[in-house]
Amino acid sequence: MRQDVFRLIVALLAGWLGGILVGHAAAGAAVGLGLHALWQQRALRRLLEWVEHPKAAEPPEHRGVFEELSVAIERLRGRHKKRKKKLAGFLRQFQQATAALPDATIVLGPHNEIQWANSAAARHLGVRWPQDARQRLSNLLRSPDLVAALAATTADGPAVEIESPLNPDLILSVRIVPYGDEQRLFVARDVSRMHHLNEIRRDFVANVSHELKTPLTVFSGYLETLENDKKLCPRPWRPVLTQLREHADRMQTIVSELLLLSRLEAEDSIRDPELVVVPEMIGDIHKQAQALSGERRHIFFLAVDPSLWISGVQAELHSAFANLVFNAVQYTPARGVIRVRWYQDAAGAHFLVQDQGIGIAPQHIARITERFYRVDPGRSRAEGGTGLGLAIVKHVLQRHGARLHIDSVLGQGSTFRCDFPEAIVMRPETVDLDELA
Ligand code: ADP
Repeated sequence: MRQDVFRLIVALLAGWLGGILVGHAAAGAAVGLGLHALWQQRALRRLLEWVEHPKAAEPPEHRGVFEELSVAIERLRGRHKKRKKKLAGFLRQFQQATAALPDATIVLGPHNEIQWANSAAARHLGVRWPQDARQRLSNLLRSPDLVAALAATTADGPAVEIESPLNPDLILSVRIVPYGDEQRLFVARDVSRMHHLNEIRRDFVANVSHELKTPLTVFSGYLETLENDKKLCPRPWRPVLTQLREHADRMQTIVSELLLLSRLEAEDSIRDPELVVVPEMIGDIHKQAQALSGERRHIFFLAVDPSLWISGVQAELHSAFANLVFNAVQYTPARGVIRVRWYQDAAGAHFLVQDQGIGIAPQHIARITERFYRVDPGRSRAEGGTGLGLAIVKHVLQRHGARLHIDSVLGQGSTFRCDFPEAIVMRPETVDLDELA
């Protein structure tokens, strides 16, 4: 700094002395100052060139403030370089770790364009990095389920199962998680083993049920004959036969419900939907529920939109809706009120069954749609229940893109609501009845 002041004074004095010699002291001093400013300007330019192109240009050699500035800049550059090296190290380690992940991992941009992928993505999905950089993932993987999952933006969407495009035996469970600035992490896990085990379990249940069906029918048939033929069956044996037949009937119901469940599980969605006139179906179920209620004389209130239809599978929906209404009858004391509603709102169509029955404690609600899960197994059996009804309801709804919502207060009653998407709602005015005939 002192050198800079000294240089300024020297320039000023030299200019002034030169000016005295030619008789213009002030002009001489001004020329001295001007030359000093020009020199500084040149030094600044060199400094700028060196800052911008450190490899091509030389730093200003002048002592003083320029030298101090170049040393400070050099020091900052050194620190910056070290930090960059450290960060690059971290990044390399992170990339090595994610590259080693057994799950296919892809970073997607706002338009689902590939921003990075690990090596498992190449093995499982054929997505290669960096060759496929900036390609849209939906152009490379064409599964409709995956396209729908990519279109969804929430993190809590369900995982989607897809077949690997490279190997149909490889089943992948895909999750898409939004993060950062419109970016999404696509993670596909190999669930082939679990899928295979599930298939074995499903086939096992279906085969056992199938094998039991015929002997049970024969068994029930003979029991019925014996029961009806007083000569063949001595009096002391009659109560035994009645009990045997009740058990055989129960087993037949379980077997047929297990077979129905296996069929429902075999496919996630419906192949050939038909027009389902739900109001008519609710009328039938109402009559059956009244018969089931019998002496207990439950009071039914129906509020049904007569022109609200849906597209789906008639037999499946009948089974699901009947299950919910019959459960309400079974778990509601005599003369209790049961309300059934079929209506549409902005979210879609809804089938609602509300009872004033025994209710369900909160800890059971999440589990009652599992097979054979019963809050009170003794009571369920006594009522002729199998514990499979709500599992059937859940699968039927899943196949129709619908969801089951349960609200219940112990001792006060329960509400079961099936929410159907707007997309499958049909109205008589929009249906071409001639085409259906
Ligand atoms: P179940 O044949 O035993 O009725 P479900 O699968 O239909 O089998 O129902 C499972 C369990 O959920 C039942 O055992 C019962 O404990 C409970 N549950 C179902 N519906 C009702 C209801 N409306 N009120 C009270 N509990 C119910």
